[in-house]
Order: sequence, then structure tokens, then C-alpha cells
Amino acid sequence: MSAGRVVRVAGPVVVAEGLVSARLYNVVRVGRRRLIGEVIRLAGSEAVIQVYEDTGGLRVGSTVEDTGRPLDVELGPGLIGGIFDGVQRALPALTGGGGGPYTRPFLRRGIEAPSLDRERLWTVLLDAAVGDRVDEGDVVARVIETVAVEHRVMVPPGGGGVVTAVADRDALTVDATVVEIDGRPLSLISRWPVRTRRPTGRRLDPDAPLVTGQRVVDSLFPVARGGSATIPGGFGTGKTVHEQTLAKWSDADVIVYVGCGERGNEMAEVLEEFPRLVDPRSGASLMDRTILIANTSNMPVAAREASIYTAITIAEYYRDQGYDVAVMADSTSRWGEALREVSSRLEEMPGEEGYPAYLPSRLAEFYERAGAVEALGRPVRTGSVTVVGAVSPPGGDFSEPVTQYSLRLAGTFWALDAGLARSRHFPAIHWTRSYSLYDLGGWFDANVAPDFDEHRRWALELLGSEHELASIVRLLGVDVLAPVERMTFHTGRILREDFLQQSAFDEVDAYCPLGKQYWMLRVIRHAHQAMIEAASKDVDPDTLIAMPVLAEIGRMKRWPPDEAETRALELIGRVDEEVGSL
Ligand code: ADP
Repeated sequence: MSAGRVVRVAGPVVVAEGLVSARLYNVVRVGRRRLIGEVIRLAGSEAVIQVYEDTGGLRVGSTVEDTGRPLDVELGPGLIGGIFDGVQRALPALTGGGGGPYTRPFLRRGIEAPSLDRERLWTVLLDAAVGDRVDEGDVVARVIETVAVEHRVMVPPGGGGVVTAVADRDALTVDATVVEIDGRPLSLISRWPVRTRRPTGRRLDPDAPLVTGQRVVDSLFPVARGGSATIPGGFGTGKTVHEQTLAKWSDADVIVYVGCGERGNEMAEVLEEFPRLVDPRSGASLMDRTILIANTSNMPVAAREASIYTAITIAEYYRDQGYDVAVMADSTSRWGEALREVSSRLEEMPGEEGYPAYLPSRLAEFYERAGAVEALGRPVRTGSVTVVGAVSPPGGDFSEPVTQYSLRLAGTFWALDAGLARSRHFPAIHWTRSYSLYDLGGWFDANVAPDFDEHRRWALELLGSEHELASIVRLLGVDVLAPVERMTFHTGRILREDFLQQSAFDEVDAYCPLGKQYWMLRVIRHAHQAMIEAASKDVDPDTLIAMPVLAEIGRMKRWPPDEAETRALELIGRVDEEVGSL
């Protein structure tokens, strides 16, 4: 591989000459410290390199070596529970120690920290025998990676042949040979270039939701498994809390959480909290299904871009094993800003608000790697990657480019509203501005209650009516509303306060199962219908609003989920009694 010399340094961007062998997106090592960089443009004899580490100390004349390889990730057991930087170097434990959390966010520059532990022994269960014919994607062995995840060792894409040897031991390190295929060794570890999507079989229509236990999400604006969602919001509106809540509670098998350009202490919170939290499904620690990629605001800017690709590639790898994976990226705006910075160093023609013209195509490359698929190979497996990207629009202005392009790409839009956050309505997801384009009604009806979707549509419609009535009330006061409108207005309030508001920090309410969501909606709808009927028969609206049973509705959140149905039926009975007595 060729070597060259630096001719210019501009922040994270370096220009080199003499790298004759370099191809676009090859990884290069720059300077005495061998900093990791990636060729992002070739122009004549010059190679433009984006360096993923602090370029301080580099100067004209420093050497640059082409590694001949694209930026890739190591894939194999040991990823789960791991914490990596943007270019997938294992980070030292960031928590604990006398200095408090997050004392060592950096690795020494230029260091080659292997992503996967080379010493650890894994117990390997072989599924292939000598003489078997195997094709790409076929599972040849399995490893219990964590309590929650069985790792499936697959014939890499493009591989295949006849198994000519198998390991004679069952305790293997990641680089030991598990099987030989036509004489070529296959170990637990494989590599994949991060900018290339992994091949799959048939793409499937996303027809099931990623269940999150968040009422405003599941009941009103769900995201499909294998779909994508974007959550823009100004500072302090709850993006990070939302991403973390979904990472904790959503029913994906594997979570890849990327802290991209966010504050280090937020990542430290995840690192402290997740190992202690129990996954409600497996009963194991949440870290047994979580991979963290940390590229915080104090880490090099260019690596933010790499961190996004690293995350999505790891997610695809577990998808191919047959898992539902969710990628939480907080925040894609910081990645966009990194693109902008690098682009301006390259003196490219700026597009909207200084972002490069390729911002939309880069965002698309990320969101379009979401999907539900049939994996290659046998046994037949389906898997999915769901992408949830937070966006931090400056000043909370959604008309800016990263928000606008994300909106066009994602199927679900959760609009965080500063006014709601100020009035402590959390999650501050606005009910008239958010939407979900996924048609999942059939799934909810089949799996939760036959009239779930009908309740969902009723709630959305009612919230819409309340929104319209609210503007009248603001101008003219509540007394101008007709009695029936008055009830609609009040039910809107009940829906907002007693259904949509859900504290991420409440022990009981942080996670609300779908069954409980349904029964809560059903009680509210029943109360609404009873009140409307009474109001149309001239019962005084104020008397109706003051009914003690309505206060009981406000306490539904605290119901133990397994008592939701019984308590809901009881409450419905009480509503009828109280309304009847008026
Ligand atoms: P952002 O990432 O958008 O800047 P955060 O996610 O840090 O905002 O949220 C800011 C604050 O809002 C949190 O510290 C918390 O007090 C409150 N908050 C946000 N979402 C919720 C929620 N679902 N439940 C309770 N409090 C919340």
C-alpha cells in the first residue's frame, strides 16, 4: 500500500499527496501517531482525508499510509454490553472509579483498540458438520452471548461451499477457527465496511409496531418494527429522555444507542443506569441487550459521522441473525453539523444554511438502512432494524434543513413542543403536529383488542376537536361553548393529562403495557359518551365536570397493569352510576 505526505491541515481535514493506491473511503493512518482517517475525496494527485481524531500536532510533511481497507467494523460475540467510540474502539469502563463517572472519555490518539476481546473464551455450539454444503447467511454455529442474546455465527455474504473441518473444542476465542469451508477458516469474528449495507433476502412490509410502553407513541403515533421515526425538539424538550426511555422499554431484542455529539454526562447516565435496570422481558440487565456508541461533544467532530455508520452496521449484523434491533441516535443534528464543518473546510459550495448539498442523501443513507427483512441463509430468519433519530433544531425551529429532510425520510414524526415542556407536559410530543404513516391498526386489533384502532382514531379526532375549541376558548372564554362542546373540550383535557402525560421517572407509569393503554382509553371514551349524552339531556356541564369519578380517571396511571381490565370495568360501572344519578 502506498504512503504519502500531508500537504495541508485544516481542522479535522487533511490533504495528502502521493497516496497512489488510495481509493475513496479507504482508511489511512496519519502522522507519527497514526491517527485514523478516511479518504473522502480524490482529486488529481491529492487525497482529502477526514481524520477521526484530534489533528493537533500534524503538520505539512507528516506521513500518511493507505491501509487498503475501507472503514469497517468488527462483528462477533462480545459486542453486546460493549461501549465503543465512533470508530468502534472499545472504550475503557467510563463509570466508577474515584473520579466519578466519565473520567476517561478518550483513548490515547492513534491507538488500535480491538473492538472485541481477543482472550475471552466462548462456548460454541456447532450446527454444521464436515461434508455439509453451506451458503451465504447459513448459521453454522451459535454462542450464548448474553442471557438475552444467542449469537448466530453466519457464513459471510458471498461465502459458501462445503464444510471441510470443524473445531475440535467448544471453548473458542473470537479469532479461532470454528469451521473451515472449502479449506478457508471461518472464525467468530467478521468485518464489514460501514458505508455498505449488508445484503439480505426479501424485504418485508413493516406490519407490526415496535412496542414502547409509551402511550403517546404506541396508541397515537406508533413506529413500525423496521420503520423509522424522527424526534425533533429544541433544547430541554425531552429528546434525550425519550431516546433513553425507548432504549429501556421498547421490545426490540437488541438496542444500539449512539450518543452523537451530546454532552458526556448524558452518556454517563446511560452507563450508570442501564446495568442496574432489568429488562422486563428477559429479566436480565438491560446491558445484556444493549450496545453503546459514545461520541460525545468533547470527542472529535468527524468521528460523529463514523459513529452513525458504525451503529447501523452493527444493527444490520444482529438483524441478519434474526433479531429485531432498534438504533437510537441522539442527535443527528450534531452529525449534520460535523458534515457542515468538514464541508466548509473542503471549501465546498454551501447549500441551505451552510450544510453541504449532500446532507439529504447522507440522511437518506442512514434512514434507508431501516427495514424488516428475511435474512440470507438457513434456518429461515426474519429481522428488522428500526431507526429513531433525534434532531436538535437550533432555536427549536423545525423549518431548518436537518429537521425537514428527516421528516421526509422517517415514517413517524414525534414533534416535541417547547410550550408543553415548559408547562411540564411530558413527553412533550404534540398531538396535533405529530403523525405516523404506518398502517398498524390491524396488528393492534389482532393483538390487543378488536376495537383498539377504533379507540385510537376516536382519541386523535377528539384531540383535534379540542384543539379547535381551545382557540375559541382562548378568545371568548369557555362559556360560549355549547354543552356538548364543553364536554368535548373537557374530555380533551382528560386525554392530555390522564392519558398522554406519562413520566419517564415514575416507577409504575414509566412503562404502560398495551392492554392497560387500551383499557385507559376505553374508560375515557366511555366517560365522554356518558357525559355527552347527559349534556344533551340538559344536565349542567359544570355538574358533570365536577363528578368525583373523573378524579378516579386521573388515578388510572397508577393501576397495576394486570388489574387494568378489572379496574376499568369497575370504573365504567361507576361512571354509569354517577351520571345516572344526575
Ligand atoms: P433535550 O435532550 O431535548 O435537551 P432532555 O431529554 O434532557 O431534553 O429533557 C429535559 C428535561 O425534561 C429532563 O431533565 C426532565 O426533567 C424532563 N423530561 C423530559 N421528558 C420527560 C418525561 N418523559 N418524563 C418526565 N420528565 C421528562
